[in-house]
Amino acid sequence: MMFEPSAVGATIKDEVLRFVMSAKVDESGRVYQVGDGIARVIGLENAVSGELLEFENGVQGIAMNLEEDNIAAVLLGKDTGVNEGDFVTRTGKVAHIPVGDMLLGRVVNALGAQIDQKGDIMTQHTRPIERIAPGVLARKSVTKPLLTGIKSIDAMVPIGRGQRQLIIGDRQTGKTAIAIDAIINQRGKGVNCIYVAVGQKNSTVSGIVNTLSEHEAMRYTAIIVAGASEAAPLQYLAPYSGCAVAEYWMEQGKDVLIVFDDLSKHAVAYRTMSLLMQRPPGREAYPGDVFYLHSRLLERAGCLSDRYGGGSLTALPIIETQGGDMSAYIPTNVISITDGQIYLETESFNAGIRPAINPGLSVSRVGGAAQVKAMKDITAPIRTDLAQYRELASFAQFSSDLDKETKDRLRHGERIVEVLKQRQYMPMALEYEILVLLAVTRHCMDDINVEDVPDFESELVAWFNLWHAQLLGELRGAWEIGAELEAAMLEGIGRCKAAFAEAREAARSRSRFEAGGAQGGGE
Ligand code: ATP
Ligand code: MG
Repeated sequence: MMFEPSAVGATIKDEVLRFVMSAKVDESGRVYQVGDGIARVIGLENAVSGELLEFENGVQGIAMNLEEDNIAAVLLGKDTGVNEGDFVTRTGKVAHIPVGDMLLGRVVNALGAQIDQKGDIMTQHTRPIERIAPGVLARKSVTKPLLTGIKSIDAMVPIGRGQRQLIIGDRQTGKTAIAIDAIINQRGKGVNCIYVAVGQKNSTVSGIVNTLSEHEAMRYTAIIVAGASEAAPLQYLAPYSGCAVAEYWMEQGKDVLIVFDDLSKHAVAYRTMSLLMQRPPGREAYPGDVFYLHSRLLERAGCLSDRYGGGSLTALPIIETQGGDMSAYIPTNVISITDGQIYLETESFNAGIRPAINPGLSVSRVGGAAQVKAMKDITAPIRTDLAQYRELASFAQFSSDLDKETKDRLRHGERIVEVLKQRQYMPMALEYEILVLLAVTRHCMDDINVEDVPDFESELVAWFNLWHAQLLGELRGAWEIGAELEAAMLEGIGRCKAAFAEAREAARSRSRFEAGGAQGGGE
């Protein structure tokens, strides 16, 4: 057969024309089957994947499975009002969400509708929920720190603005607590925050909203909720909706922090949806594209180059493991997509080491580049000291006589563990973190009783505020500790220690005296 270029050209032209003609969106179809939040529709041959469809009773749906003679649409509302035979129209649009500063302080659902009874979200700007992530050329590497105010994280697994850092652990290990503290710590730092709650109980979420309000964090935070009681498609959409809101700010040059709590439940919602649409189940019954579910989400985080405004989107996805198993399907997927993970352990958590971070299994692959120099220099030995301590401690429990060096190491390790404990809702300013970590890493706390460490820590901060505000100012000026500043700070720490010991001694003799007096009175 002869190959005729002109004929091919004409055919392509015809095809294009036909496509353009068919792109009209006033097409309508009919529902022929509905149930479990899925509607099968016939007669919408030209609908595209991801397109928003409108059902006769006003409920919206998203076209997901495009099959030869029908399409499966997930309903974004209750399926009870949708009946077989109902008309369905195309909208020619993909799902959108309102974006902008009006969302700060508000709680909305996955489609941006208010659920906090504070009135409608009035904003002219909307954004498609699904969007292609910025390309490599539009990005730059991470250079600015995103401080969580949590000593163990800022010291050992530092996060940079634009980084994706996974928080992973079994249930009830303090995962949410870390994310909430990180949000609280952004007060006054010019970072907008978004907390996306997926598949959680409404009572849990309202607790979080209250906590954030109490700490005045709602002023710069938006909350997107797709609760456990909501339809799977809304739980599936919520993280992307959050990203759309975040990107709007990021493209204006702002720094944004987004928390996805949690992506395990997100994956389950997607699995439910896929099984209902009769997509073939794969490993652990998840559909084959479950990796893409999270990769296209987390890819949207990053740091824009100066040409694109220099904004950033830091993501803290949360994953719940079962029995500490990081090698399950969804955990390994998300670990491979993120720039590091904070691994929380039930054992430490129950032993009172909170946050229960495992220093051996937690890493941050890019945050080090954004860590301030003073912090980096001071905390360099912490990880090895901790690792050695853990190893020694497990042996030491079986032997009674230890050599001095081992004893010293154990003593030092215990103090580090103690200093890295931190209560919830008490994020620390960077200069205080550095001060306290300097004291412990330079062995200044080794001769303080372990139970006195928390008190000494607060005493140290108070002491420096009172007597050495200038040194703290110097530290804040450059975020660097030269030999001179370090020596001056160590001297201040020494003085504080002497005063602390004296006060302790005085308190002890007072209580001895009182105890003696009480006995005397009884005679
Ligand atoms: P879930 O799996 O249910 O989502 P989670 O891993 O998100 O749990 P959280 O809800 O953050 O865990 O914390 C569990 C409990 O531990 C809460 O009661 C919380 O108040 C407490 N908790 C968390 N972190 C700390 C901390 N640093 N100090 C003291 N208590 C903490
Ligand atoms: Mg939680």
